[in-house]
Amino acid sequence: MKLSFNPYELMLKHTFTVSSYSRNSTPDVQVQIEYDGLTGYGEASMPPYLGHSVKSVCDFLSKVDLSGFPDPLFIEDIMEYVDSLSEGDAPAKAAIDIALHDLAGKIMGQPLNRLWGYNPAKAGDTTFTIGIDTPDVVRAKTLECAGMFNILKVKVGLDTDEQMIRIIREVTDVPLAVDANQGWKDRQKALDKICWLHEQGVVMVEQPMPRENLDGNAWLTERSPVPIFADEAIQRLKDIPSIKGAYSGINIKLMKCTGLLEARKMITYARAEGMKVMVGCMTETSCAVTAAAHLSPAVDFSDLDGNLLISNDRFIGMTVKSGRMVLPTGPGLGLQLL
Ligand code: MG
Repeated sequence: MKLSFNPYELMLKHTFTVSSYSRNSTPDVQVQIEYDGLTGYGEASMPPYLGHSVKSVCDFLSKVDLSGFPDPLFIEDIMEYVDSLSEGDAPAKAAIDIALHDLAGKIMGQPLNRLWGYNPAKAGDTTFTIGIDTPDVVRAKTLECAGMFNILKVKVGLDTDEQMIRIIREVTDVPLAVDANQGWKDRQKALDKICWLHEQGVVMVEQPMPRENLDGNAWLTERSPVPIFADEAIQRLKDIPSIKGAYSGINIKLMKCTGLLEARKMITYARAEGMKVMVGCMTETSCAVTAAAHLSPAVDFSDLDGNLLISNDRFIGMTVKSGRMVLPTGPGLGLQLL
């Protein structure tokens, strides 16, 4: 197996704002693993707030030596080795994991969802995210995407929450998901807000309060009329026990959890604990977004719009038709290089 990688800056179509920062591009590293005439594609996307960089990802990938692994199908063994190389570096590990899965699917001649027994007809809808912005921009963005998606995700967490929702509701009545990105500090105010949001057709809330405030999030989950999902509070499989009971569900992202192998274990574990599961993404090309989309038949919500936010995608993969995700049918991830 031959591993290669190159930095690839993702250019955002619009400035992206959540409750804590704004940005116009996202650093990214594209990864290829070649084996027996086949190429598996992977990707590491590094939104700045997670503390990773192009340098940290390239440094990590330079340490990876796959020469001891003659068979790319033994992904458990390979990822155990890759994971042992450092404590963190989840995006770099995810890039290798995604490329290995793409390669494995190509060797087997089947799309990943099919190898896992997931029915692509159950891929369902994806949310499309509206960031925090001025009223005019929120209205314009909602008008632009209304009719194309069956559920929208709204970034909240600032004083403008009610205004944002009212503007969106002037344009569309589709169900809404909201993501506070830890922006709400007072639990009673957060609950009041969630009850109001519920009346506005909000069907789920992501990370309402800071991740350190386990009791506050648990208090909300107990009282909320809609499910509360952990995002910033959950990275990997080993984190699930520590948040049990504090949230209704978890948001699995490949860049947080080191890839598809661990993501599938997280789905199983969360289900065993009676938790809901959503799969999310960072700003990514269709490579990592499509990898996550292959998990979508197995989860409750999919938030896979990261590829739609960039102007320099490298691939065609999962597509969205009438708001529903259509998984590619080619082997592995099923990507076409643009
Ligand atoms: Mg989130």
